[in-house]
This record gives sequence, structure tokens and C-alpha cells, in this order.
Amino acid sequence: ARPPRLEVPDYQRGILAGDRGILARAITLVESNHPRHVDMGQSLLQELLPYTGNAMRIGITGVPGAGKSTFIEALGCRLCEAGHKVAVLAVDPSSTVTKGSILGDKTRMEQLSRLSNAFIRPSPSSGTLGGVARKSRETMLLCEAAGYDIILVETVGVGQSEVTVRSMVDCFLLIVLTGAGDELQGMKKGIMELADLIAVNKADGENRVRALGARADFERVLHYLRPATEGWSTPALTCSAMSGEGIGELWSIVEKFFYQVKESGVFAKRRQTQVLAWMRSLVVEHLQQRFFEHPAVQACLPRLEQEVAAGTMVTTRAVQELLQAYEGNQE
Ligand code: GDP
Repeated sequence: ARPPRLEVPDYQRGILAGDRGILARAITLVESNHPRHVDMGQSLLQELLPYTGNAMRIGITGVPGAGKSTFIEALGCRLCEAGHKVAVLAVDPSSTVTKGSILGDKTRMEQLSRLSNAFIRPSPSSGTLGGVARKSRETMLLCEAAGYDIILVETVGVGQSEVTVRSMVDCFLLIVLTGAGDELQGMKKGIMELADLIAVNKADGENRVRALGARADFERVLHYLRPATEGWSTPALTCSAMSGEGIGELWSIVEKFFYQVKESGVFAKRRQTQVLAWMRSLVVEHLQQRFFEHPAVQACLPRLEQEVAAGTMVTTRAVQELLQAYEGNQE
């Protein structure tokens, strides 16, 4: 039988009671683009807003194979054992390009998914990076209202998604591997500048010594970079997600990070900046959508695109015409 239809107060009660089934359905609701669902989702978020904001929001990135899911499973299990409630979310815009997700396909984090204090949600699967990110932000709020005090947001190192995840978390962790020389050269400085902590993973067995060397290399480079967070100098350490070695030490550094940024006021300031930037980006997203869906714009867009592509019209001129078409047809 189909589950009974829920209204906003039902979702609200269920989430505040920590009901995982209702939380999952509420996430589906905020992920939906159906107008009625969007309205309900927004009312729900508004009602839940007072109960949000209390989690440690932590982003985790690294190239495919770096060990992100192994790491999250090891860390997540440890945190659940310590009495935390841990939600794991993913931001994976690759699914919109390749029609297959890098993060979601494997059976991942089996141990963690069996724990009653853990909640794992794969990436929303449709839309642009902006769309995926909006949904993940709202999902994060729902999880906080449901009592999750640690939110781990995983993303693959594919271009813009790290920047996007950085903009929704308090602390950002970069997982890297050895092969240091090439790794460091291949790695964009930009991504290291986003990180509050760099973990050289797979520091076990024969790879241990090399991992220690890589750690030293990273520390050296970090020394010359602008820190991601005011007042915090990003450390590099080694760990083994497989054996669990180094994970405890890593977590105590994360705790120290949170203590320090809360004391200094950087935490509150960052949260505020983030939410305001998010508001502006939503405005931009809406306007952009309205613009391109406008009949007057659609009527002249193909012709103008053709002319610009053929090199017979200056781009700015085409843009002017489009804007005139749009603005001249507002009621
Ligand atoms: P992801 O793509 O970043 O999520 O990486 P996975 O967590 O799926 O790990 C990729 C591979 O590396 C898997 O075969 C893991 O078993 C292995 N792996 C992950 N962490 C470690 C580690 O600390 N040590 C070793 N030796 N292997 C690891």
C-alpha cells in the first residue's frame, strides 16, 4: 500500500521526533520541482528554521579512489559510537553530465548505513550544480532539525563542486594520496586553498613511509598558501581509512578547529556570509530561468545565437536585443 499522504505539520512532527522515514520523505519533497511540493517544502523549512544550524557542517572532497567513502564510514562509525548523530550527504553534479553518478552507484558505507544514529542520503540526481547544491543545503537543514549534530557533505573533485560545497560548510577536508611530487604539481593550488585540513590517506603497509613524505611536502606548500579560514593554519596529516589509524587524531583537530572559529567569531561570520550569498544566488537562478523561459526571449534567441555564432553580430549587441525583448514584455 502507498504510505498515507503527509501534510506540512506531519512532516514537521516526524522530523522533530527524529523519524528517519519521514525525514527521507521530507527530503524527497524539497528535492521535487513540482510547484505544490516546492510550496510545501518551503513552508516546512520555514517552520523548522528555529531548529536548524546546530550541526558541525563538514565538507569532504578528494579525487575518485582517494578513499572518501571508506574514510566517511570509518569516521562516521566512530562518531556514532561516541553518541553523535551523523548525516552523510553528497553533492555530485557529474550525474547531470554523464547520466551516471560517480558517488552513488556502488554499495557504499555498509557498516555506517546499518547504525541507527546514521543517515545517508545520495546526491540529488537532477539539475545543474546550482540546483543540486540548493537541494543539498535544504536537506542539510532538515537533517539538523531532525537532530543530526554532524553533517558530512561529500563531493568529488570535479571542477566547481568543491567551491560549491565549501560555500555550505564550516570546515573543509581534502583527502589526498601519495605520489606526492606529481600529486602536488597536478593539484590546483585553488583546491588546497579551500581546505582546512589535508589528510594523506592510505598511510598503511608499504605506503606508510611515502605517506609521511607526502605529508611533509603538503605542509611545505601549505606554508605559502592563503589559509582557507581566517586565523587557522591548515595542517596536513596522514591517516588510514582502512585501519582507522590517524582518524582519532584527525577528529581532534577538527574539534579544535570548531572551538577556535567559534571563539574568534569567524564561525558566525562565515555562516552569515554563506546564507546571504545563497540568497543572492537563488535570485540569480530564478531570474535566469525566467529570462530564458520568456516567450519574447525564446522568439528571438535562435536568430541572435545564429548571428553571433556566424560572426555577423557583435555579442553585446545581441545581448542588448535580448534584454530589450525581455524588459519590453514585462507586465
Ligand atoms: P572514493 O572513490 O574516494 O570514495 O574511494 P573509496 O573509499 O571507494 O576507496 C577506493 C579504494 O581504496 C577502495 O578499494 C578502498 O578499499 C581503498 N582504500 C580506501 N582507504 C584506504 C586506506 O586507508 N588504505 C588502503 N590500503 N586502501 C584504502
